[in-house]
Amino acid sequence: MSDFNVVLSPCVGVKAAACVTVCPCDCFYDAGDRLVIHPEECIICGLCETQCPMLAIVPNEEVPKEEQASLDFAHSFFKGKTREELDQLNVTG
Ligand code: SF4
Ligand code: SF4
Repeated sequence: MSDFNVVLSPCVGVKAAACVTVCPCDCFYDAGDRLVIHPEECIICGLCETQCPMLAIVPNEEVPKEEQASLDFAHSFFKGKTREELDQLNVTG
């Protein structure tokens, strides 16, 4: 599996979306109370990390143990969703 960036729990309830405006791949999706990055669409360019006021975005290899649920969520959120469903949840800047 290739690397990707992960949105951590400080995003929950904030969703300021500064990250979305700089993403060259449009790989942010609306997961209700937080955003989530598509593991297979992210090119890990790092631009979003510098924009998040909550410091809530880190590479998958650097997710701390207490944020394991956010890493799991980054995978489970996309399982079983069609491209059409994902297009409706896609958040672009
Ligand atoms: S900038 Fe940070 S807090 Fe705002 S939506 Fe993106 S990840 Fe969430
Ligand atoms: S690392 Fe780059 S490609 Fe991945 S979500 Fe952030 S801005 Fe988008």
